[in-house]
Order: sequence, then C-alpha cells, then structure tokens
Amino acid sequence: MRYCNTIKVYHRCGGCGRKRQFINTGRFRVNANGKNVDVWLIYQCIKCKHSWNLTIYERKQPSKIPADEYQKFLENDEVLAYRFGNDMAFLKRNKAEFE
Ligand SMILES: [Zn+2]
Repeated sequence: MRYCNTIKVYHRCGGCGRKRQFINTGRFRVNANGKNVDVWLIYQCIKCKHSWNLTIYERKQPSKIPADEYQKFLENDEVLAYRFGNDMAFLKRNKAEFE
C-alpha cells in the first residue's frame, strides 16, 4: 500500500470478540438499494482480518453524490480511502476509538 493512515483505529472485533486495532483496507463497498445507495469504507481487524464497514453514505440518492467522488468509490481510489481514514469527524460518526 502506498498510502497510510497516521490515526490508529480501534473497534470491538466481531471475530476476536475483543477490542483490536483495525486497518484501512483502502477499499470501498457500494451497495445499490432500490433508488438509493450505501457506501462504506472497509477496515480489517489486524489480528483475524474480520471486516468492519464504516458508513460514508447511507440510503443516499446517487444524484446527490458528486459524480467524480462516486467514480472513485467504484474504483477503490486509495487517495480518497486514506483521506477518509484521516478524517476525525468520519471516524467519530462511526464510533471508532482512535489515538
Ligand atoms: Zn479480530
């Protein structure tokens, strides 16, 4: 990976059953749900690789998402992924613990 996050993120892992550090995979998941889409950024447990999806958009109309940004989600744009990974407000919204 060419980019890295300086913020260490912790979350209770559903795989390990305890609090673990989670790593930004640099990949997005886009799920069309009728007329709306959900977009997540995927993190992974450092220990067991259990994934944890952090919500970027929830039930959002695709027309409300900037087209260039939407394209980057589909292409798993690493720069954008790591920008989210350094966004404290985004991490807080997802109830991530970090240092
Ligand atoms: Zn785990």
